[in-house]
Amino acid sequence: MGDIFGHFRTVESNKHFDFIEIVDGVFACIHRLGGSAICNVGVVNLGEETLIFDAFMSPNVAKVLVDYCSQYNLPPIKYVINSHWHSDHIRGNQVFSDEVEIISTRETLRLMEENIPVELNNRDEVLRHWSSLKNDVENYAGSREDRSYQEKIMWLPFFEEMADTDSRFELRYPNSVINETRVISGSFHEVHLVPTGPAHTANDLIAYIPGQNILFASDLVHAGMHPYFSDGDIRGLKNQLREMIEIAPACCLPGHGPISDVNAIPEMVNYVEAVEKVAQNLKGKILKNKSADIEIPDAYRDWWFPQFFEKNVHFMLAKI
Ligand SMILES: [Zn+2]
Repeated sequence: MGDIFGHFRTVESNKHFDFIEIVDGVFACIHRLGGSAICNVGVVNLGEETLIFDAFMSPNVAKVLVDYCSQYNLPPIKYVINSHWHSDHIRGNQVFSDEVEIISTRETLRLMEENIPVELNNRDEVLRHWSSLKNDVENYAGSREDRSYQEKIMWLPFFEEMADTDSRFELRYPNSVINETRVISGSFHEVHLVPTGPAHTANDLIAYIPGQNILFASDLVHAGMHPYFSDGDIRGLKNQLREMIEIAPACCLPGHGPISDVNAIPEMVNYVEAVEKVAQNLKGKILKNKSADIEIPDAYRDWWFPQFFEKNVHFMLAKI
């Protein structure tokens, strides 16, 4: 097992993601600033077949991964997991061959059917947002090193992909749903797909490789980034995070952010509790200026996507 401080072997890099070997036959694709991968993806060589955990935001980026798999002689891709319905995890589905089993929970399939066509119909608004963001980036007056500039660079490909509903994009749904843990074994590695119940969304899938003590946590864990609560369930999320701490994975692949170890998980619990505390303090008060009254605690000031903190507090306020 390599350590979390960058000693894993980077097999390939492109402008969208780094393709990193965690242990022999288990890989992480880590999104790069300004790329169109957006989410992280896990890859497991089972022995006779390959399993891909999440499918990226961009079909073009998913295609790069398919090419890497054949370039590095991985066995045929047989399983693609959609951990949850958010666009940045499922839009790459279309590039995988028809023989591939695309697996999600029943709730994820339902939420994809419910939400993704609505997103696709929203193209005009997305295009407006994209062009105003592009304009902001082109005319940015400060330093390229500013976090506020880099945040814009981070969001730009997201909206570019959202706006791309032309002939290149064709929504493909999971063709296999599970409601219980499913074990997929091969001669090399074994993967446990575990439905979490309500957590980051109505019912996410996480993946655990017991032989190597590696966890693919999807968006239940964000490393160095504010998570997004609004489609999920706080109590369920906390319970799941606690169960993950019990597992004590040596390596935790978050949905967003760098490869981590078990410590990323209690850090998420602390974050949830920090949001709860801020929400408790605001409860019953009339907020004069919504944003100004919600201060991000020091521990999370340098985390990416600070705008989610306020959203998370409002989500929590509606629940307590
Ligand atoms: Zn998500």
